[in-house]
Amino acid sequence: KKEINFSKQIILDSIKFKYPNSKNYVLKNINFLINKGETICILGTSGAGKSTLMDILMGLIPPTSGKFFVDDIQINQKNISSWRRKIAHVPQEILLLDDTIKRNIAFGTPDYKIDNLKINLAIKISALEKDIDNLPKGINTIVGERGSLLSGGQKQRIGIARAIYQNKEIIFLDEATSALDKKTEENILHNLTQDKLITIIMITHRPRKEIIYDKIFSLKDNSLIDISK
Ligand code: ADP
Repeated sequence: KKEINFSKQIILDSIKFKYPNSKNYVLKNINFLINKGETICILGTSGAGKSTLMDILMGLIPPTSGKFFVDDIQINQKNISSWRRKIAHVPQEILLLDDTIKRNIAFGTPDYKIDNLKINLAIKISALEKDIDNLPKGINTIVGERGSLLSGGQKQRIGIARAIYQNKEIIFLDEATSALDKKTEENILHNLTQDKLITIIMITHRPRKEIIYDKIFSLKDNSLIDISK
């Protein structure tokens, strides 16, 4: 079966991973279950393996051993691209074009295909509305080379707006809220998760106790522990 349908859960079963050029395992015996619509946080110090785990979940690298299921279907080479198409990823460093805010949010969409209603919704959800209202040219403001005319927090929110614009079922946030104050972060997560349609998986080395997650995992000593139980 080539098409993946994500309506229930994501399961990792006894996943192990080592990079081909190294002899040590970065991940040993990773097990978890995430339900659709949940907001998940994965904690761990730098080098613990968070990005590696995320790359496996996003289907960018295959696990060395173990099984990865979406609903009841095992992810394999044939259906992996269907899985990848369901995912939006917000990296730590957002790559911004020296172009307008609108084109940066609709990233890669030709002008005639840009949906302004979707742009406005993405701006609202990512808490950029006030910032953009304060700009004389609004969404047509040029962001400068690598977003040099924006603050770190604004760049991150444009990255989040870009992910929202893509309309995917799952959003991976890789330290993607580190430059935001906790109120703004809470606000965005609330906006994203209130209808429980989008599944959010975020990784961070700095947890915020104000944020309520459905599950919190800690990645330590190559293993994953559910610390929200
Ligand atoms: P985190 O995201 O928690 O900071 P990473 O997943 O980036 O951790 O890295 C986990 C471990 O894997 C580290 O020891 C890192 O040096 C190693 N690592 C990461 N990428 C590679 C790679 N491409 N080849 C070999 N080792 C790697």
